[in-house]
Amino acid sequence: MVYGRLYRHLLLPLFDGVIKRRSTMRHWRNAESSQWWTRERLESLQLDALRNLLTHAANSCPYYADLFASRGLKPEQIATLDDFVKWPLLDKGIIRQHRMAMRTTVDLPLMTKATGGSSGEPLQFDLDHGSNDRRTAMMYRGYGWAGGAPGSKQLFIWGTAVGKVSTWKRLKTRLHHDFDRHKIISCFEFTPEKMAQHVAKLNAYRPEVIVAYTNPVYEFARYIEATGQSVWRPQSIIVGAEKLHDFQRTLIERVFKAPVFETYGSREFMLIGAECQHHTGLHLSLENLLVEVLDENGRPTPHGEEGNVVITDLFNYGMPFVRYVNGDRAVAGFEMCPCGRGLPLLKKVVGRQLDTLQTPDGRRVPGEFFPHLIKDFPAIRRFQVVQADLGTIVLKVVVNGELLRADQERLLETIRQCTGEKVRLDLQLVDDIPLTKAGKLKVVVSAM
Ligand SMILES: [Zn+2]
Repeated sequence: MVYGRLYRHLLLPLFDGVIKRRSTMRHWRNAESSQWWTRERLESLQLDALRNLLTHAANSCPYYADLFASRGLKPEQIATLDDFVKWPLLDKGIIRQHRMAMRTTVDLPLMTKATGGSSGEPLQFDLDHGSNDRRTAMMYRGYGWAGGAPGSKQLFIWGTAVGKVSTWKRLKTRLHHDFDRHKIISCFEFTPEKMAQHVAKLNAYRPEVIVAYTNPVYEFARYIEATGQSVWRPQSIIVGAEKLHDFQRTLIERVFKAPVFETYGSREFMLIGAECQHHTGLHLSLENLLVEVLDENGRPTPHGEEGNVVITDLFNYGMPFVRYVNGDRAVAGFEMCPCGRGLPLLKKVVGRQLDTLQTPDGRRVPGEFFPHLIKDFPAIRRFQVVQADLGTIVLKVVVNGELLRADQERLLETIRQCTGEKVRLDLQLVDDIPLTKAGKLKVVVSAM
């Protein structure tokens, strides 16, 4: 506790503000206060930031200058946020094609980042340092709602870098983690032998918060429950990076006896939304991002309906993202949260739609069918469904112990009810299913 306070009020501000000359702490302080503003006041803050961003883009980013001019769009025409609905959308394909022309010609130092993308196609993009400070501040605040503000003792179950790392780099990373009070378990190391070590690490470290990718912490919780071990009880568990199913939340909470806080973020924007203690949805990082949920015709979705997530980063002046369709689906929230924050909610993040499988007789099987089915087979630790051609669906499974013959048959029979008889189902018991480079698990893969 003492270190936590010392870290938050002295060490971090010193390191960040004085040594690194960042403005993260100032943005964080402001965000802690603006989250309580009224919705009207927050929207007027967004509107001002939006007009400034669009003016900057029109004046200094060749791609946007041409685009806006060709459509006759002028930032000063935007009187309310509703007027923005007419503006053109952006997607990954456009960024790949026009990245250089999307960057500002103003002399602003940029940092380049890349996203692996669940489609396996990487995307490179840029941001300026000021934007990075602001998004870090949003993360500090959002994690703070779950008790995970900087200075708290955190255990990460995360997709950390693999491969050879120099000793110096490893030492530097280690010091950094010690300073931040972070410990890391790589989600590439989730073999049964390693699981026991992870339990020991958790029990010895006694973190206040576990911060985890959804699938590995779910796997971890299943292992703990199946082996009947007792584990350290953190105050909370923050999950992100992968879709969280309700059944996963239930099991994780049961095993660790602590509440799960869902977060939603991406490489392009860092934290987009996070739950507060009421778990009524994810409060948006509104001061930094303008998030829209739109139907197929580009109109805001009505109450309770799922739509496409479209994001404008209000402060990435280095390479503006204006109305970026990120490929995720979500349900917008319309009610106020009982916590009293003015920040609107995303009611539900559906995430990226899983691939849909097809069958020779024309059936379409949504990928979402599989996680729900597999959860009822406790022996299966990890799985992946692969459709390489129309006639064959391969189900790869990694099991703890044994998957009984009767269970194998029950599993295939249930799938066959969905796919029909024309598809060959191939159940393969494998030793491992590799994660993507980013440490995520692609559960349904269709090459069709
Ligand atoms: Zn709330």
